[in-house]
Amino acid sequence: MESVVAEGSDDLEYKALLESTKAIPWKIDWASGTFSYIGPQIEALLGWTPDSWVTVQDWADRMHPDDREWAVNFCVAQSQNGIDHEADYRALTSEGDYIWIRDVVHVVRDANGAVESLVGFMFDISERKRTEQRLLDLQRELEELSFKDGLTGIANRRRFDAVLEREWTAARGTGRPLSLVMIDIDYFKQYNDHYGHLQGDYCLKMVARALGTVLMRPHDFLARFGGEEFVLVLPETDIAAAQEMAQRCHEAIRNEWIPHERSMTGKVLTVSIGLGTMAPAPEDDLLAFVEKVDRRLYQAKQKGRNVTVG
Ligand code: GH3
Ligand code: MG
Ligand code: MG
Repeated sequence: MESVVAEGSDDLEYKALLESTKAIPWKIDWASGTFSYIGPQIEALLGWTPDSWVTVQDWADRMHPDDREWAVNFCVAQSQNGIDHEADYRALTSEGDYIWIRDVVHVVRDANGAVESLVGFMFDISERKRTEQRLLDLQRELEELSFKDGLTGIANRRRFDAVLEREWTAARGTGRPLSLVMIDIDYFKQYNDHYGHLQGDYCLKMVARALGTVLMRPHDFLARFGGEEFVLVLPETDIAAAQEMAQRCHEAIRNEWIPHERSMTGKVLTVSIGLGTMAPAPEDDLLAFVEKVDRRLYQAKQKGRNVTVG
């Protein structure tokens, strides 16, 4: 008799303890698939009263549709196998919102080893999920920044390398011509010497913006190759179309009318351009192609600048 009383007071103590935690305790009777207990804290978190949690189906129904299938299947399979487990899922609130929950489950077996019940705790992990999401966003932002030129905001050399490699491989597959256009500002050293480095930076931004207006098709790509050199990657573009694009580059920059007192090509800023087109065969080498275009740019400089070779 005494022991029953003692047990009863223990039960009350445990209950008080369970119901004072932030985690929400629950118990499911395995045979009937019904809740034999769920902590009253559930109502504060999700808005559903404890007595509205009757069957396992209620639990499954109050789950985000995208999480339901795997979470239910996973928990049922683990329970059937008698394995303790935990699952993260979004639980539906009575207001129609979702809250990230971590459900930690212990499987209770009877003397014969058969599953008798499940006991567990639900934890509100929405803050942790928000932090995780912020980290992911930040990671994406950093990745984006790592492919962007800090001064002009266009793609940087790293990105160019990746895009060119990708388009080269694609061109090999389709047999379509790939064009590469390398653009170098004429007498930019003199520009800096005369106007100052800050004005030089500003000039580079203007050139980048002007070149951006030349791009026409979704896969046309512009990058800052280095210092005062820019590059266009033009997939599925033959030599005639690439030459026209180069012409448009000259015009776009001329139309900016950027004064350049110390240029030998005239009174405004100009560029020299080398271009090449190739439908690469398996034995062709990308680096050799880039070097060929770079040599043509050098030839354009030797010809007196403000011209295209290729
Ligand atoms: P060329 O006509 O033969 O192309 O001569 P250039 O003076 O344009 O070429 P060179 O390669 O000798 O000089 C390029 C200059 O570009 C040197 C460097 O100070 C300047 N430069 C490179 N990056 C930047 C930058 O980010 N900002 C500024 N302001 N200048 C830069
Ligand atoms: Mg240069
Ligand atoms: Mg130059």
